[in-house]
Amino acid sequence: MVSTTLAERMTTVRFRPDHEPHIVVDGDICRDCSLHTCVYVCPADLFTLLSDGSILFNHEQCFECGTCYIACNREGAISWRYPGGGRGVTFRDS
Ligand code: SF4
Ligand code: SF4
Repeated sequence: MVSTTLAERMTTVRFRPDHEPHIVVDGDICRDCSLHTCVYVCPADLFTLLSDGSILFNHEQCFECGTCYIACNREGAISWRYPGGGRGVTFRDS
């Protein structure tokens, strides 16, 4: 299996963020979460657990893989949609 660093992965993609976040994280629901699965599964490292237990999230370099939405164990904590036409991630070869 080939392993790549986050920096290497980021050189293979282009981002054109949507005007509105395509992923919204509900901090009120996250407050009671003890697993913080999103922090560990996101391949773009976009979820950060802060010292007060809250979650900081940045949608702008999202790979649109859907992993956080599937892995989160709290109903409604993550609202997920694809970015609008022409927006979001573009994958390329090199
Ligand atoms: S997004 Fe889901 S997994 Fe992540 S902290 Fe919130 S409730 Fe927990
Ligand atoms: S869709 Fe994938 S890349 Fe985007 S925030 Fe969720 S896990 Fe991270």
